Amino acid sequence: MSKTALIVGVANNRSIAWAIAEQLHKQGVKLAFTFQGEALERRVRPLAESVNSEIVEPCDVTDDAQLENVISKIKEKWGVLDVLVHSVAFAQREDLEGRFIDTSREGFTTALNISVYSLIALSRLAEPLMENRNGSILTLSYYGSEKVVPNYNVMGVAKAALESTVRYLAWDLGTKKIRVNAISAGPVKTLAACGVRDFREILAQNEQKTPLKENISAEDVGALGAFLASDSAKHITGSTMYVDSGAHIMAF
Ligand code: NAD
Repeated sequence: MSKTALIVGVANNRSIAWAIAEQLHKQGVKLAFTFQGEALERRVRPLAESVNSEIVEPCDVTDDAQLENVISKIKEKWGVLDVLVHSVAFAQREDLEGRFIDTSREGFTTALNISVYSLIALSRLAEPLMENRNGSILTLSYYGSEKVVPNYNVMGVAKAALESTVRYLAWDLGTKKIRVNAISAGPVKTLAACGVRDFREILAQNEQKTPLKENISAEDVGALGAFLASDSAKHITGSTMYVDSGAHIMAF
């Protein structure tokens, strides 16, 4: 029987989640998608149809009823789930520029709620469908969790919390044979990335900094995602793996 995957976080064909979905589709994995709001539905539905997806549901990750609905649709249709891809992040624009110290309580809570708590909530709901079948949960992080990247600000703190969340979830879910990992990706031009001030500059500087002197593509992340989702990675859990042309090894 083919494996099944829920992909949360496709906004358009440039999304990292879409690149992972394409690779999983090539491996014969059946895919379910969510979209955040009507505007994105128009982008996500045709993409989902192009890979014969049978489940396409609305899901704002701050809404517990929508999270529950997605999982119940998967339970109805498939009964089980093998892979959960969490590729969601958000911070208010004003919190992605200027001084980090000016982050408001509301901005902090919003960023951590959408970008981190959503992984915990989704994992808890998916656990009964994923247990004891070498399940794999994946999320997306960035090096701004470890080192200061100007303007990344509250999202850096959210990514640090996300990577820690991955470790705690991996411990909780290990006995159910569910693995939990993060991919720390180099910068890729997507809708979310354009919210970070001076992102073009980050891309240009990053290219020069990497040992390979090349930026990565969403397809590179898709390939690692597909590997981590597969049984070839069955003893990899709790990790944050880099796809960044080696940027993370450099001091400057
Ligand atoms: P993207 O804009 O294509 O995807 C971000 C997704 O988050 C969108 O689909 C959006 O709908 C979703 N989202 C935001 N708020 C939501 C909410 N309340 N409910 C449901 N969904 C919500 O951008 P992307 O770059 O593909 O981002 C995917 C992930 O990759 C994010 O976690 C991002 O931080 C991470 N990442 C991106 C880069 C990069 O340079 N692009 C690098 C490293 C990590």
